[in-house]
Amino acid sequence: MSNLIDPIIQHAEAHPERVAIHTSSGPWSYDELLARSLRYAGLLAAHGIGAGDRVLLAAPSCPEFVVAYMGIQALGATVVPINTMSTEPEAAYYLTDAGATLAISWHEVGPAVSRAADGAGIIHLTLTTGADTDSTPLAWVIDRDPAETAAILYTSGTTGRPKGAELGVANLLAAGQIGCAVAGTSGEDRTGTALPLFHVFGQAAVMMATFTGGGSLSLLPKFTPQGLIDLLRRDKLTVMCGVPTMWNAMLHAADDADSADFATLRVAVSGGASLPGEVARAFEEKFGCTILEGYGLTETTAFGAFNDVERGGKIGSVGRVVPRLDMQIRTTDGAVCGPGEVGEIFVRGDTVFKGYRNRPDATAAALTADGWFRTGDLGVFDAEHDLRIVDRLKDMIIRGGYNVYPSEVEEVLYAHPDVVEAAVVGIPDEYYGEEVAAVVTPRSGSVLTAADLDTWTRERLSAYKIPRIIQFVEQLPKGTTGKILKRDIDRDQLRAAAPS
Ligand code: AMP
Repeated sequence: MSNLIDPIIQHAEAHPERVAIHTSSGPWSYDELLARSLRYAGLLAAHGIGAGDRVLLAAPSCPEFVVAYMGIQALGATVVPINTMSTEPEAAYYLTDAGATLAISWHEVGPAVSRAADGAGIIHLTLTTGADTDSTPLAWVIDRDPAETAAILYTSGTTGRPKGAELGVANLLAAGQIGCAVAGTSGEDRTGTALPLFHVFGQAAVMMATFTGGGSLSLLPKFTPQGLIDLLRRDKLTVMCGVPTMWNAMLHAADDADSADFATLRVAVSGGASLPGEVARAFEEKFGCTILEGYGLTETTAFGAFNDVERGGKIGSVGRVVPRLDMQIRTTDGAVCGPGEVGEIFVRGDTVFKGYRNRPDATAAALTADGWFRTGDLGVFDAEHDLRIVDRLKDMIIRGGYNVYPSEVEEVLYAHPDVVEAAVVGIPDEYYGEEVAAVVTPRSGSVLTAADLDTWTRERLSAYKIPRIIQFVEQLPKGTTGKILKRDIDRDQLRAAAPS
């Protein structure tokens, strides 16, 4: 029996004064983090939340996110963390799909979540600084079956709207332990990040790993390169976790510091998208650390392969399969590939998710009967068993670390009365890694402009999903069945159409 709050309880008992989280108003010890989480659990219990309930949480990366998250866990309930930029229809969809009975949003997040909660007729709570409450603390933490769902994270494959990936208690506890093992972190480490905690990378590989190791966590709610550099200095970070666009931006920040200023920094953990070799080398030099790239997905609770700290980083590779997981590269016929052969990456083991909530078909398509998860990514092992990510089989765009699902954006474009057809693709971008581009066939005789579509999509989608490049064409490339062939879209022409 177990609970995700167990690591915090263990460290609070072993060394109550040790810092768990640095906040802008001073550090919180493990003891204090535990006390705040149990008080928050008391507040939720007073609103009728208990084991088996689902609670939506919309908060940026801040200490209060952790308090609410752990309070939900202590009750034996399931947390549904969502993007703070969600619009009201998006929040309403998550609420309904997850069957949430209570929604929490950070006080600086707009009214989308509270309106969605009102619309669904469920309770809404505003999370404020310190997550302070007068509620009686929860008297005892619920011991859970490790197979129970601890968190539902929305993600999507190639088809349809985002699906709720159910991560079990055991998945997230395993991810925390694996994270500590591969990055070599311990109670001495001070880890910092600007990653969103609603995403699996921040939640599993950073938050859970930090509390498993017993070190401290520093959070930056909104990424700016200077903000992260300042956090690094303020809290003397030893470990930093982020996506390649962050490292790149930090390299170009107008901060004339050199590596001596960052003497404490030992490791930068990079994931979420492929890390350009040039960025990796320049970052290691400027910040005087080792950069370790890893690879994983929401469905594998952030872990898959990782450049183990003991061997050091191998630039261009995401490292070897992590402990407690198996990995295979398979051809389209299902044969297992040898070194040097490209195929689809399959993963099995302790961090592989339970399935998509209420989507037996999607779950069956993603998980084989013997527990292998098909990632939809193409990879290749070299002779030293190090993995290189070749491409994505699926169409997902990753813009600045955020996933954009073309089908969701296409759905909104198609809803415009003057749009006949639309295809959304990713275009390589120096800053964001990828930029969202749309190729649209307008209704003949209409006077549709890119500005019209910009307004239309902004009213319906989070800012990071908005196509920044819009091209109008008479015909989209089609296959014999009439299916739009995205691979035949001329990306050079699209890039040329990009606003400078
Ligand atoms: P998510 O479920 O949001 O974590 O997205 C997972 C996807 O991110 C994977 O299927 C990959 O396509 C991509 N990804 C994660 N890490 C890497 C990496 N190191 N290099 C290239 N792609 C990555």
